[in-house]
Amino acid sequence: MTDALTAAERRSLALAHDEHNPYEAVVPPIVQTSLFTFGSYAEMEETYKGLKTRPTYTRGLNPTVRIFEDKLAALEGAEDAMGFASGMAAISSTVLAFVEPGDRIVAVRHVYPDAYRLFETLLRRMRIEVEYVDGHDEDAVAKALPGAKLFYMESPTSWVMDAHDVGALAALAKAHGVLTIIDNSWATPVFQNPIALGVDLVVHSASKYLGGHSDVVAGVVAGSKAHIREIRAQTYPYLGGKLSPFDAWLLVRGLRTLPLRMKAHEADALDVAHWLKAHDAVESVQHPGLLNALPAGLTGTSGLFSFTFKDGIDVPRFADMLQLFQLGVSWGGHESLCVPGQVVLSQNQGPNSGHAFGIHPRSVRLHVGLEGANALKADLQTAIQAALA
Ligand SMILES: *Cc1c(COP(=O)(O)O)cnc(C)c1O
Repeated sequence: MTDALTAAERRSLALAHDEHNPYEAVVPPIVQTSLFTFGSYAEMEETYKGLKTRPTYTRGLNPTVRIFEDKLAALEGAEDAMGFASGMAAISSTVLAFVEPGDRIVAVRHVYPDAYRLFETLLRRMRIEVEYVDGHDEDAVAKALPGAKLFYMESPTSWVMDAHDVGALAALAKAHGVLTIIDNSWATPVFQNPIALGVDLVVHSASKYLGGHSDVVAGVVAGSKAHIREIRAQTYPYLGGKLSPFDAWLLVRGLRTLPLRMKAHEADALDVAHWLKAHDAVESVQHPGLLNALPAGLTGTSGLFSFTFKDGIDVPRFADMLQLFQLGVSWGGHESLCVPGQVVLSQNQGPNSGHAFGIHPRSVRLHVGLEGANALKADLQTAIQAALA
């Protein structure tokens, strides 16, 4: 399996000899400090004048955070990256760095619910309009783009798994001079490299696969040095959603096994998805790996997908009968998880009426973890049987 790693993966996941660790430690240290002191007035002044780059204060620059940022940039094939306290901090700081009142954003439909709520609350209050388009409909995208400031993509999306031709959409945006951002949390850089496909900025909820152990909430954005510098200048220091050194250290640990974990999630989720597709109780399965072909640029699939039951299934009973699949949001860790669509539809939080994120009331979202496909299929079968009765 190791041979299958790309050169960029090998470089970015490599152990620590390029990281100048004290004591030649193979794992980088957690530089758990708020501030860094100066040896002299001259050094302090030189740093403040910007003649020298060195850590001053952890909100601005921290060595452990920087190790994570460098690795993520290498994985995404980007010049630079910046870590954040959450995926939403990465998304909000990135979007807000490039828009002002009166601007229009074009976004694909079915984006992550809190990204949608950011657009529909804060951005609307700032008189920034967001127009939603079907990312499969390139004519509709081309029609919406002229005059827009930003094109916000998410592919695949995280409930109905809309999987777009990211390169084609990015080219359309470029032709109209529109800056592009993509949420790449589902595919990760292991299965999709949006920068190589022509996208300007890639955001992640690092709480999902990048961390990979359900023990950290974090985010990151990757892109050109100039774009990252813009985020650093316009929003990041003032919104202050910084990544903590300990969380960065957990992410560095998570990244070491990212390609191996993704290949395991891919194989077992495909196995479970094919099994569900053939099941009598199931109406449809939403998984990009079940399409005739993956969209250009998407080279593999992850562990998150959804399916829709036929009428006559007691979904709450199904959910309660699951043993291995636990009921819970988020995804990307070892454990398999289940979210019934009806629960999300019943959520009373912020503006989501009229925009159901593509969720069918009889749908169920699964995250296939690392417990093994056979055990997971047996768990689903027991629960489906009980829900039919
Ligand atoms: C979870 C998630 C986010 C938000 O990330 P947080 O780390 O929870 O702030 C953004 N996009 C997608 C697709 C997600 O699943």
